[in-house]
Amino acid sequence: MLMKGKKGLVIGVANNKSIAYGIAKACADQGADLILTYQNEKLQSRVQKVADELNVKNIYPLDVSKEEEIIALRDNIEKDYGKIDFIVHAVAFAPKDALTGKFLNVSKEAFTIAMQISVYSFIEVAQKFQTILNDNASLLTLSYLGAVRYIPHYNTMGVAKAALEASVRYMAVDLGDRGIRVNAISAGPIKTLAASGIGDFRKILNYNEENSPLRKNVTIEEVGNSAMYLLSDLSSAVTGEVHYVDSGYNVTGMPIVE
Ligand code: NAD
Repeated sequence: MLMKGKKGLVIGVANNKSIAYGIAKACADQGADLILTYQNEKLQSRVQKVADELNVKNIYPLDVSKEEEIIALRDNIEKDYGKIDFIVHAVAFAPKDALTGKFLNVSKEAFTIAMQISVYSFIEVAQKFQTILNDNASLLTLSYLGAVRYIPHYNTMGVAKAALEASVRYMAVDLGDRGIRVNAISAGPIKTLAASGIGDFRKILNYNEENSPLRKNVTIEEVGNSAMYLLSDLSSAVTGEVHYVDSGYNVTGMPIVE
């Protein structure tokens, strides 16, 4: 029961295929008291289902593009739970034209939306939640290899993930004097709702499976377990890190030759 006595907010559950669901489940299995959010009414019933399964008392609306919703969420959590011990940010979005064609041709508008939803939201949540975080809290976001390498079709989202990983380092310094840790998991490709927006995703899955040291794709359970470690006191000296959970794919620069 590594998470017993810990209360945490998980942002980014869309359904039980979401990486956020894998993380929430791993934490709930270790005794965490969870708070979930849903992006909009369309997703509310799916998130409620997950909440029922994981014994989550309350789910709250949150569209991270709306500052007033982030503030309202913080105030509601403070009223209903007091201070919390961890936050998971598993949110990303880019308009179609930021994920197709040449990266070079991305519009300013699509680029800005991708950065706001996928990067600034993590910074803003941390900023607004500072007052209700316990000392030694742990913050976690989700990244992808496209932050550091060219990945077909990932385009603007790769640039957003690079900014997100850099933000993790700066946030780790700003919050480190309170013992608050900030980390990212760079997960291998997993078939989720968000991933369906990436072109040739099936090809990417197959390529990763064949060319990662472990010769397999990762599951949301595996990402969940690594996340649970980063959210628990087991990782009390780990901050500002990008932790790869990708069957080792990031270490192979060329196809594996047997
Ligand atoms: P998902 O579709 O299950 O989750 C994405 C979540 O983002 C959804 O719950 C959606 O509601 C939420 N979201 C989008 N815009 C939002 C907004 N304006 N306000 C609030 N919430 C919003 O997909 P996922 O793959 O589990 O994605 C979770 C995270 O993992 C993302 O950051 C993604 O980039 C990252 N990631 C995914 C993969 C993969 O292959 N699936 C790999 C590495 C990293």
